[in-house]
Amino acid sequence: MNLELSEEQAAARQLAEDFVDREITPHAAAWDRAERVDRGIVKKLGEVGFLGLTVPEEYGGSGGDHLTYALVTEELGRGDSAVRGIVSVSLGLVAKTVAAWGSEEQKRRWLPPLTSGEAVGCFGLTEPGTGSDAGNLTTRAVRDGDSYVVNGSKMFITNGTWADVVLLFARTGGAPGHKGVSAFLVPTDTPGLERREIHGKLGLRGQATAELVLQDVRVPADALLAPEGKGFSVAMSALAKGRMSVAAGCVGIARAALDAAVGHATEREQFGRTIAHHQLVQELLTDIAVDVDAARLLTWRVADLIDRGEPFATEASKAKLFASEAAVRAANNALQVFGGYGYIDEYPVGKLLRDARVMTLYEGTSQIQKLVIGRALTGVSAF
Ligand code: FAD
Repeated sequence: MNLELSEEQAAARQLAEDFVDREITPHAAAWDRAERVDRGIVKKLGEVGFLGLTVPEEYGGSGGDHLTYALVTEELGRGDSAVRGIVSVSLGLVAKTVAAWGSEEQKRRWLPPLTSGEAVGCFGLTEPGTGSDAGNLTTRAVRDGDSYVVNGSKMFITNGTWADVVLLFARTGGAPGHKGVSAFLVPTDTPGLERREIHGKLGLRGQATAELVLQDVRVPADALLAPEGKGFSVAMSALAKGRMSVAAGCVGIARAALDAAVGHATEREQFGRTIAHHQLVQELLTDIAVDVDAARLLTWRVADLIDRGEPFATEASKAKLFASEAAVRAANNALQVFGGYGYIDEYPVGKLLRDARVMTLYEGTSQIQKLVIGRALTGVSAF
């Protein structure tokens, strides 16, 4: 694996760094307090091409490889995980999945608005009763003439109240478990689809997370993404790539924690010298720095495998597992360096810790990643 960035990759990273410093970092704390990211940021992300990375240019995308996607995602995660998540879902889980699985007509309809930021996408897999065991979801789509009638509900849907389209997973056939699941592209203004915002999240407060309730929602048959019964494969392939983007976002969190902690340690004085002089403080900083590098290298390896067309799902689970746990550790270590000041929201590290915490839960909890890796090691499924 070549660790040297190409000119294009380095330029994309620089563009992302400047964009984040100008458009995101100055607002992140206020958006967090207000429990709402300024929606204008979506349009700006589209204009600069960050909502179209890896999507072919003929569909409005900005092309580029997965390492570029990881580099940009790391920068977004450094600035504000709430914004990073909006991109990871609308681009990473929805647009990229339409690009990979969609019909020509679906690509022409949905990719230009999603990649420009005119439209936002959300990913509707989790339900109130099925989280880790997503293959046993109970939302049902029953064929009726040239359409399907959908009933059920979805829980914890990122971008839920903002989205124009939901990539919805529902049970179609009589087949049990994941074999009976199908994927649909459903406009969120379809009659019978109600969205209820979820408030009071520990972190990612700027995001519009929602519960979706579907009551006799009529969806045309051509909204089916991929053949009937292939929905679980669609979801798993989306999540495998999605895990790389969560991991990259976690590297960004850990980096923000490192920057803040080093800055504080070299300014704050105790016992007659800056706390950077105290060995135990240096240990905290060192632990964060090693976590940043290790998480980044695991993430880049996944990007490299995807770009070379190699199998990557197990490596994506390793990267997501390590990077998410590393982000929590790094933010917690940074908070320790800040002492009591870390505990108030005038300083950035408390938000980093709150935002990091969910990374070990969504797109497969840490336990689920371990089961994926364990299955690859032993050939035994322990789910
Ligand atoms: P459960 O599955 O009930 O798990 C509870 C605990 O049991 C966990 O510790 C888990 O690891 C453990 N556990 C479960 N099964 C096993 C097992 N076999 N072996 C060992 N341990 C096990 N979902 C979407 O579809 N779209 C989204 O956009 C989305 N965004 C989200 C945003 C936020 C802020 C949050 C909090 C969640 C989001 N989710 C989304 C849902 C998320 O993916 C689920 O919360 C996650 O998959 C876990 O499911 P659960 O919460 O039902 O927990």
